Parts: sequence; structure tokens; C-alpha cells
Amino acid sequence: MSERKFEGIARAEIINLPIYSPGLGSEEVKRRYKLEEVIKLASNENPLGPSPLAVEAARKELSNANIYPDGYCGKLREKLSRRIGVSPDSLFFGNGADEIIDLIFLAFFNKEDNAVMGDPTFSSFYLSGMSVGAKIIYVPLEKYRHDIEGIVNAAKKGAKAIFVDSPHNPTGTIATREELEYALGNVPEDTLIVWDEAYGEYAEDGEFPQSISYLEDHPNLLILRTFSKIYGLAGLRIGYAIADSEIISLLERVRPPFNVNLVAQAAAAAALDDEEHLRASKEVNREGRNYLHGELEKMGFKVVPSQANFVLFRFDHLTSKLSDRLLSKGVIVRDGTSLGYPGYVRMTVGTPEQNKKVVSVLEKIIKE
Ligand code: PMP
Repeated sequence: MSERKFEGIARAEIINLPIYSPGLGSEEVKRRYKLEEVIKLASNENPLGPSPLAVEAARKELSNANIYPDGYCGKLREKLSRRIGVSPDSLFFGNGADEIIDLIFLAFFNKEDNAVMGDPTFSSFYLSGMSVGAKIIYVPLEKYRHDIEGIVNAAKKGAKAIFVDSPHNPTGTIATREELEYALGNVPEDTLIVWDEAYGEYAEDGEFPQSISYLEDHPNLLILRTFSKIYGLAGLRIGYAIADSEIISLLERVRPPFNVNLVAQAAAAAALDDEEHLRASKEVNREGRNYLHGELEKMGFKVVPSQANFVLFRFDHLTSKLSDRLLSKGVIVRDGTSLGYPGYVRMTVGTPEQNKKVVSVLEKIIKE
């Protein structure tokens, strides 16, 4: 029997889509390299773990697991709307920000509609787009930063949406207030501006925009955020969008009825209350990011200045693939090749102990 029996009945758009590969997990690496300890710095997760308040709320909620979750995320919606100062009907919750990206394409894109984005960029933007047959218009980054003018110019030729992540994955650079204002002022009014701030809480540059303040005057702005990063809830899958209530209502039409599970909703609501966890996460990241940047430069790596919870760096002075050598020594990072940066590594900022360990492993590799 032919292995390709079902290709003929699958939609043409998905046949050549790559299957997302998250890389190896810690247990697999321990087994493969016979290691006792492994440090995973590959997926930009919070090294402090989730807030204890979130864990407690999640545990409590588990006893209600026989009940379908509130599809409207009512309690969380109320709390978040008060916290960030937007009306409840301008919020939309998803099974991770990833699901919201899928739903944006599902709700707004016909086949061949243009989606404009950076190159390289976060993979969900183009993979979700390709899965509905959208035409992806790539605008190359300039010096590791989004070329907002280039993106706007491409949008002027006709596009359903532009996708800008700030801080950008995988470089960690931000788009400034001025650049957001330029996009808002020059992108056609019927083109959505998807402004992805998955790593926004880590940005400390004074030029990082208060994106929410632009929503009122710009109904085509949609801000994406997540509980996966600074809130440490990546494993529960919950993210949100903030936008004009008409856009939200259109997204609601394609949202699966119970897309955000009840444990995630309870944990996210509790996490919002834990300001100490938030503060500590920010501080550990700030210090770790500075430390790694400095140490990596001392070792001769070229480091892209980051406003996120990861750093991208280049290793031209080493001959073999750095990510493989790190892996064999128990440090899991993301090789730049799959992110559009061959010859680079993207490494999440860890705890102070993890960062020190990684630096010492790198020093060993360099001497080998
Ligand atoms: N946007 C960007 C830029 C990201 O890097 C990620 C996570 N890798 C997401 C969105 C999705 O986050 P999640 O689905 O975990 O909420």
C-alpha cells in the first residue's frame, strides 16, 4: 500500500508545511548523553517557574475538571481588563497566543491574501498563514530589527495584516514608539496591525511603546500577549489579544467553544495577583541578560542586544555547530539555523546559577 494514500485528499496548502519541531526535551538529552543534569534554555520559558499563587489556584481548580470551562473566561477577563485598563469586550483569550494567530488567519484571510512580516520572524506567523493559503510577503530585517518602513510599504500594496513581534523572536530587538506610530499612521485602515508583545514585559528600553494607548484611535491594531513567558505558564497554554471590540467579535466566531481550559484560566488569574513573582522574574532576567551579554562578548561571540528573555549570538570563531556541542554537555539551546540565523545560537536567560554554568561550559568548549 502506498504511504502517500491520503495526500490526495489533504488540502494542497498543507502538504509541504514543515511539522513544528520543538527540539529535544531534558529527559531525552539526559538519556542520550548519559547526563545527570541538563539545563534547558531553548524555549524562552521562565526559569523561576510559575507563581506559587498560580500553582495553588490551578491545583484547586483541578477538582472541577469534570465541568467544561467558561468559554468567555469571565473571571479572568474582568480581572485583566481592570489590570490593563481596557474594556472587557476588547479582550480575546486563546490556547496560547499561537492559537490566536491561527484564528486571525481563519477569520480574516482568504486564499492568496497577503500577510506581511519580517524575515526571519516567529514561525507561527508564516506557518499559520501558509496553512490557509495566505501569500506571505517577507520584509528582510535590517541590523536584526524590523524594517517598519519596508513592512508599511509592502502593506500599502494590499495586505490583510502585518505581523510585528516586539521584542522580536529570535533577535530580541524592539520596534520603537516612533515605529509603531509610523505603522499606525501609514498602513491602510483596513489592514490589521498584529503587534505581538509576547516578550513585552521584559522590555526596558524607554522607546518601547505603551501600545494599549493607541487602541482607541486605531481600530486596526491588535496586540498579542501571553501568560507563557514572564508569567511562567507556558505548559498551561493561555494567551490573549487586545483589540477593538468589533475585531474581537469577529474572532469569537471562529473560536472553539472551550479553547482555554479551566486550570489555565484559574492559574492566569492568580498569576496576575503575584506582583512579587513578576518583579523577581523581571529582575532575574535583567541581571542574567546583562551578565550573559557581557560574558559572551568577552569570549568573542557577537551578541545581539536583547530586550527579551533570550539572547541571539554568533560564533564565527568556532568551526563546528555550537548547539550540538552544548547539547552533549547538557545545555539545550536553540540552533539558529531553524530560526533563519545559521551560525547563531538563541539562548534563553536562565537563573543566575544556570547562566554561570552555561558560561563555564562555553569557556570549556572554546578551549577544546
Ligand atoms: N509570539 C512570539 C513572538 C513567540 O515567541 C511566542 C512563543 N514562542 C508566541 C507568540 C506564542 O506564545 P504562546 O502560544 O505560548 O502563548
